[in-house]
Amino acid sequence: MRPLHGRWVYHGGEFVPFSEVHLPPTTQGLHYGTGVFEGIRAYATRDGAQTHLFRVHDHYRRFLRSCRLLRIDPGLTADELADVTAELLRRNGDRGDVYVRPLAYKLGLLPGTPPGVGLGGVSDAVTIVASRLGDYGPPGGVRCLISSWRRPGRATLPVQAKVTGGYVNNALAVEDARAAGYDDAILLNEAGQVAEASTANVFAVRGGRLATPPADADILPGITRDTVLTLAAGLGMPAEESPLHPADLLLADEVFLTGTGIGVTPVIEINGRPVGAGAPGPSTTRLAQLYGRLVRAEREDTHGWLTPVETGSDEQALAEEAVAKA
Ligand code: PMP
Repeated sequence: MRPLHGRWVYHGGEFVPFSEVHLPPTTQGLHYGTGVFEGIRAYATRDGAQTHLFRVHDHYRRFLRSCRLLRIDPGLTADELADVTAELLRRNGDRGDVYVRPLAYKLGLLPGTPPGVGLGGVSDAVTIVASRLGDYGPPGGVRCLISSWRRPGRATLPVQAKVTGGYVNNALAVEDARAAGYDDAILLNEAGQVAEASTANVFAVRGGRLATPPADADILPGITRDTVLTLAAGLGMPAEESPLHPADLLLADEVFLTGTGIGVTPVIEINGRPVGAGAPGPSTTRLAQLYGRLVRAEREDTHGWLTPVETGSDEQALAEEAVAKA
């Protein structure tokens, strides 16, 4: 990610330079993890002429569901949030690939609210930052460790929502995996079934059939997961949502991860054992290529998943204004 200094941020209902955003140390979301977020990407076409947000409305629909759970009112509809995001990219003069991070959080106690943890009687805030980001993740695939941290069940934490506080679990798991020399962690749920990776869903391929844990395996039902299931259906590739056990991953021909950040990424090793041939397999490679073509508008957008970002003639001037103000 490139530095955010000199860029516009949407904060408190307006577009302001990044350097003007100051949060009080009393911000409730910082203390109690009472915030929700999304990760959204915009991709440039290969000729660089056009940029599209990918499934931005779906991301904001999930954002609003997460908000509702935490009794946060962002004051904008999914369509309005999508428009604000497109405007943010326009103001920043973004023509390349961009990562968008909307965050809604509990801010400060309203008059008459006693201090302490809670949701009601606390003001809400929304901040959206966007930064330039190209492809990331090792192109040859990632090596994963099955974590000793379990993903909490939805009776403990609403894991289907993107709640900031819940990510302590993901951070602990990924930290241990990296300390042991791996790229990412795969977490099991409390029943010992495969849930997901630190910020991505997991697929296994065996005999050309895809399998991914169902929603009730305490996963975050990813938008990329849904995209891949849709692409697989279009290819006539059999796919099912079914519980996976760690042994299913070790016995699979291919394993791959899906997420907004990493797209479709092969897993080539788990717990020191090669997955299949220890190299990206044919189903993964096919789906990854198809996904790449889809987000870069090289396939017909039959689902209406691409939202063009109109870059007006004044975007360069606006970007320079933000730098000047920073
Ligand atoms: N699981 C978790 C815990 C995540 O944070 C993410 C990233 N949002 C995913 C799965 C993948 O979801 P998506 O495809 O919607 O990015």
